[in-house]
Amino acid sequence: MIPFNKPYFTGKETKYIKKAVDFGHISGNGSYTKKCQDFFQEKYNIKKALLTTSCTDALEMCAILLNIKKGDEVIMPSFTFVSTANAFVLRGAKIVFVDSKKENPNIDESKIESLITKKTKAIVVVHYAGVACEMNTILDIVKKHNLYLVEDAAQAINSYYKGKPLGSFGHLSTFSFHETKNIQCGEGGMLAINDKQFIDRAEVIWEKGTNRSAFFRGEVDKYGWVDIGSSFLPSELNAAFLWAQLKRVQKIQNKRIHIWDSYYKRLSQLSQFGVKLPFIDNYATNNAHMFYFICNSTSERSDLINFLKKENIYAVFHYQSLHKSDFYKKKYDREELKYSNLFSDRLIRIPLYFELSNSQLEFIQDSIIKFYE
Ligand SMILES: *Cc1c(COP(=O)(O)O)cnc(C)c1O
Repeated sequence: MIPFNKPYFTGKETKYIKKAVDFGHISGNGSYTKKCQDFFQEKYNIKKALLTTSCTDALEMCAILLNIKKGDEVIMPSFTFVSTANAFVLRGAKIVFVDSKKENPNIDESKIESLITKKTKAIVVVHYAGVACEMNTILDIVKKHNLYLVEDAAQAINSYYKGKPLGSFGHLSTFSFHETKNIQCGEGGMLAINDKQFIDRAEVIWEKGTNRSAFFRGEVDKYGWVDIGSSFLPSELNAAFLWAQLKRVQKIQNKRIHIWDSYYKRLSQLSQFGVKLPFIDNYATNNAHMFYFICNSTSERSDLINFLKKENIYAVFHYQSLHKSDFYKKKYDREELKYSNLFSDRLIRIPLYFELSNSQLEFIQDSIIKFYE
């Protein structure tokens, strides 16, 4: 059986967890949390990183930090994970969904500006499959209309736009360390703050609305309730696990990229059957978060998924357009989003994980080619 995903363990996770236990500090914001945060600040040029219990939580912190309230509008792609939108809906925002590009599922930057109104507060971009959106155009729009930019970089660790790390563009950005991501700790995430004005308040929101962080730095002589907040920080056990993974980021990335490149090379012959392989612009890098391709139709995709299942290979589709979801379709009153729907209907993802062997990789490629032939 070849699963769609298998979380990779470096072997050092339990060693660091034991160290945290022996040290006697296993609640949040300890030395492993700091190591992980420093890693992002230094390697990915983030002004201030805060480890969170998930990317979903980090997105909820963004909505609080931007003071999103009822009536505000937030622009984002429809082809994304529920949490990207839900975090802002929780604070009363109206979501303005934008179509994907023709070439890949990222937000179509040329369709953003006409959707901006007096109520628009923020633009949220999602770097799908870890491939950068067209950031220069988006940054120009953000500046011109005095908006906030949030990057949902959940899939985008160790990936770049014109040489600059993803997650370092947004006023606020978020990462995920869910089991399905390149670097993981089961459940985990990070808020990346690139605009200094948000740092102090973010620490308060992170610590249940208290100024506990400032207290432990000796900046205030007692701590108490100063703002809204929640329990957004993970335990040191999660941070210790994550640290083991971050130390191996290059090794993990090299292997994933090897697998991705092999798929791309071998499957490019499927273009003769109308299959479209992933498109990556010159301005973007590939962090090999996933390998997907686009089938000719929904029924072809279902047939392929069933065919592969018989070969004991698990392949899956991905997001259903959020503007067509049960929760949002009653509230959605604009035109259909052609490319978002196309990717919902025809995109297929195939197994990509560290321990996938070369023989398994070849077997998957052979099986897909056999299906089309
Ligand atoms: C995985 C993912 C999330 C959610 O991450 P969690 O850490 O599971 O909360 C949000 N947005 C995108 C684009 C994702 O891929």
